[in-house]
Amino acid sequence: MTGQVVVVGSANVDLVVDVPRHPGGGETILGGDLRRTPGGKGANSAVAAARAGGADTTFVGALGRDESADLLLASLERAGVRTDLVSRVDAPTGTALITVSPDGENAIVVAPGANARLELTATQVERIAHADVVLAQLEIPLDMVRAAAAARRPGARMVLNAAPSQDLPGDVWAALDLLVVNEYEAADLAHTQAAPEELAAALLERVPAVVITLGAEGSLVAQRDREPVRVPGVKVAAVDTTGAGDTFCGVLAAGLARGLDLAGAARLAGAAAALAVTRPGAQDAVPTVAEVEESAK
Ligand code: ATP
Repeated sequence: MTGQVVVVGSANVDLVVDVPRHPGGGETILGGDLRRTPGGKGANSAVAAARAGGADTTFVGALGRDESADLLLASLERAGVRTDLVSRVDAPTGTALITVSPDGENAIVVAPGANARLELTATQVERIAHADVVLAQLEIPLDMVRAAAAARRPGARMVLNAAPSQDLPGDVWAALDLLVVNEYEAADLAHTQAAPEELAAALLERVPAVVITLGAEGSLVAQRDREPVRVPGVKVAAVDTTGAGDTFCGVLAAGLARGLDLAGAARLAGAAAALAVTRPGAQDAVPTVAEVEESAK
């Protein structure tokens, strides 16, 4: 079965510099050469969904009319993502300023630019209405998450990757079929620090299904009226974890769209995300389905 995935989200150009340490307020330090790479949670997940195979993937987002937009469109198209409905607005394309210290820790400032101007058009709403899975994150206005959820057809799944972390209003909770969060976001949304199983139980009071990603430990899949399932992590030598969560969400969405159950889709998503962390970059690190299958042998 080939399913349809529509990712409604952000696209950013990542401006990345290696630094000996992160600068303090008022300080200037010299870093390494600048890298300019395609990123943004929405675009990263769309690339991952398309490379996962088995799903026809559309990216719905807003770009400026600048060189950064060209870089992002080229990356999306290279991965096989449909970009025909991407909006172009009079604002700079979203940009993330990222410094990376020698221990691999990132410090990031995002200038949302065009992402903050996303307004769904009638044709975008129509594409969403044909999707089996609609995936959104929180780097776009919350009203666009609401609009995407409202546009989906009965039986389609609305998946929210609630990152970056923010509290969700009741109507947004009510519009979700599946929440995907890392442990920190899960604790924020549940307003408590607890083991993943307890966090999932708290979140299931608000949403029918939750996947909590656990970094190298894999993920926890929890659904109402079922026992939670731990999907173990795949052992790899991590080089750069940027975009691991986005890869996981995109591949999960593609798996659901082609008919896998939630635990099966989470297993596939974990295998793809594990491979992604062995490579530098965000979109550039996302593996194809063939690479994931090869690594599982
Ligand atoms: P990021 O912010 O780095 O994109 P995240 O915090 O949203 O990631 P994580 O839980 O760290 O999400 O990672 C998402 C998924 O990626 C995990 O569920 C796991 O499947 C995979 N993953 C991440 N780090 C590793 C690792 N070191 N080894 C193997 N798999 C990993």
